[in-house]
Amino acid sequence: MPNYTTDLSFNFNSPTKIVFGAGAVNDIGPEMDSLNKKRAVIITDEGLAATGMIDRAKDILGKRCVGIFPEVKPDTGVYIIDKAVKYAKGVDADILISIGGGSSIDTAKAMAILLTEGGKLEDYQGWQILKRPLMPHIAVPTTAGTGSEVTYVAVVKDHDRGIKLVFGDNHLIPNTAILDPELTVNLPPDITASTGMDALSHAIESIHSLQRQPMTDGLALQAIRMIFNYLAISVENGKDIAARGQMQIAATMAGIAFSNAQLGIVHAMAHAVGARFGVPHGVANAILLPYGMEYNLGVCEKEYAAIADAAGIDVHKKTKREAAEMAIYAVKRLTEEIGLPTKLSDVNVTKEGFAICAENAMADPSIVYNSRTPSGPDDILKLLEKAW
Ligand code: NAD
Repeated sequence: MPNYTTDLSFNFNSPTKIVFGAGAVNDIGPEMDSLNKKRAVIITDEGLAATGMIDRAKDILGKRCVGIFPEVKPDTGVYIIDKAVKYAKGVDADILISIGGGSSIDTAKAMAILLTEGGKLEDYQGWQILKRPLMPHIAVPTTAGTGSEVTYVAVVKDHDRGIKLVFGDNHLIPNTAILDPELTVNLPPDITASTGMDALSHAIESIHSLQRQPMTDGLALQAIRMIFNYLAISVENGKDIAARGQMQIAATMAGIAFSNAQLGIVHAMAHAVGARFGVPHGVANAILLPYGMEYNLGVCEKEYAAIADAAGIDVHKKTKREAAEMAIYAVKRLTEEIGLPTKLSDVNVTKEGFAICAENAMADPSIVYNSRTPSGPDDILKLLEKAW
C-alpha cells in the first residue's frame, strides 16, 4: 500500500455543484436556469414514472420540460440509450435531468456522449477519451448508493455480449447533483439495503485502492462512519428523513472518493457476476466485499483498522491485525443485519459461470487499482468459490 511520504502526489477533481436538503428538488428549475438551458428532458425508469415523483418534477420545471423518457431499465443498456437519444433529439433537448437510481443517471451520462459527439456508444468505451464538455446534466438521485451523481463513470450493459461497458471520463461528471432525502422515503427496504452497501463498497474500495490519498481517505472514512450509523435505520424506517439524508450524503461522498481514488477487486468481481447472472450491483458488492477485504488483508491492516474505528468498533487495545479483522467482520454483520444475502449461492449464481467471470474480472479496469495484484484468474476463481 502507498504510504503517505514526501513523494505523495495526486489530482483531485470534484466539479459537481451539490444541492442538499429536504425539498431540494424544487431547485431543479433555478439550477437549470443557472446553466443557461431552456429545454429539459427528464430521464427516468418506468417504476418511478408511476410514483408521482416525475409529475412533481415536471410541474416544478413547467415549460422548461420538453419531454420525459421513462424507459430506463435496471443496469440500463445500449439499446435503451439509442432509443433515448433519438427521443431527446426529436424534442430538441438542450439539457438532461436524470431522476432515479444509478441506472437512470448513467443513461443520461451515456446519452450526453452521443447527443454531443454522435456515433456509437461502444466507440467511447474506455478512459478519458472525450475531448470537450458534453450536453449539461443535472442528476437527481433517488437511491443512496451509486454516487453516480458526482462520478466520472457510467456503466451500461451490452445485452448482446452479456458484459457491462464502462466509460470513465471527467466530461461525464454531472454539472449539478440535487440530493433530496424526501425522494428516497419510498425506496423499499431491500433496495435501500443493497444500494447502501454499494456506497459502503465504494468507500472501502477507495481506501484499499493503490490510488488512495488523504482527501479521498477523509471522504471515504466519513462516509463509512455515516453508513454504519444510518443504513440500518434507513432500512428499518424508510420515512426517517434525517437518516435518509445522511445516507444520501454518505453515498455522494463515497462517490467523490472512488471517482478520484478508483476501486478494486470487489467491483471487478461484482461487475463480472452482475453482468453474467443479473445479480443487482449493490447485492453483488455486499456479498463480495468481505471476501475482497480478506484477500487484501495482508497489505491493508492499517487501512482496515481505520475502517474498524470508523465503523464504531473500539480498537483501542487491539493490534492493527485484530482491528482489521474486526472491520471485515463488521461488514459481514451489517450485511446480515439489513437482511441481504451473504453468499453467491443465495442469489442464483451457478459455479459453471465462474471461469468466465474470473477472466472478465481480470479484464475489468478496477482490478488494476487493487492494493494486491492478483496473480491471475485463479485468484479470482478461489474468491468466487469462497463467496459461493
Ligand atoms: P437502479 O437505478 O437500477 O434502480 C433500482 C430500482 O429501484 C428500480 O426498479 C427503480 O425504479 C427503483 N427505485 C429507485 N429509486 C426509487 C425510489 N426512490 N422509490 C422507489 N423505488 C425506487 O439502482 P441503483 O442501484 O441506484 O443503480 C444501479 C446501476 O448503477 C447499475 O447499472 C450500476 O452498474 C450503476 N452504477 C454506476 C456507478 C457510477 O459511478 N456511474 C456506480 C455504481 C453503480
